[in-house]
Amino acid sequence: MHADQLVDLTSPEPPRDCPLCPRLVAYRRVNQAEHPDWYNGPAPSFGDWNGRLMVAGLAPGRTGANRTGRPFTGDHAGWLLYETLKKTGFATGDYEARPDDTLRLTDCMITNAVRCAPPLNKPETSEEKTCRPFFVNTLAAMPNLKVIVTLGDVSRRSLLRALNLKGSTGAPGHGSEFDAGPYRVINSYHCSRLNTNTGRLTPAMFEDIFKRVRELID
Ligand code: SF4
Repeated sequence: MHADQLVDLTSPEPPRDCPLCPRLVAYRRVNQAEHPDWYNGPAPSFGDWNGRLMVAGLAPGRTGANRTGRPFTGDHAGWLLYETLKKTGFATGDYEARPDDTLRLTDCMITNAVRCAPPLNKPETSEEKTCRPFFVNTLAAMPNLKVIVTLGDVSRRSLLRALNLKGSTGAPGHGSEFDAGPYRVINSYHCSRLNTNTGRLTPAMFEDIFKRVRELID
């Protein structure tokens, strides 16, 4: 039996031991051997399935969601992301970089286009394609979804492919805003350590993205 016959491709969540991407499964095995206490599996979406906002990243970080099992939890990017979501009313509680903290999302879901951590943070195009059913199913499972914030142009293009739209739909770059199917999309620079340390993305710039979301959905 082929591996994809063992996986429910109608679900928004892949199985914990999803076997579909050989390179990513091999990387998972390496991480499992080196760090058996880590999560080491497809990172599930985190948040409110009835939310009007989705934040879409590309793939989990090795020491972030791959380690903790919750998107943007445990690596640098989470601090700015969750602080900004709290400031703009999309999160409550305290983010402490671990999945059992008190942070909760309100009216917001965070997901990744590719659910398994890739080597060097770079999934291959074939892996994006293989994981796409879960992204598509996640979109379909959010009946109130209105606005999607994509974190970086690669995430933006991945979303467009999930929506069967051309990559030329909407402009690249920070603050680009456009319609994609039934959704309004806002693209942001990724809240990575590189972008924040170099000043490419400031906390104010990032907050402005979510203030704009508020204008669109309230
Ligand atoms: S990236 Fe997606 S499709 Fe590939 S192994 Fe992980 S969960 Fe499965």
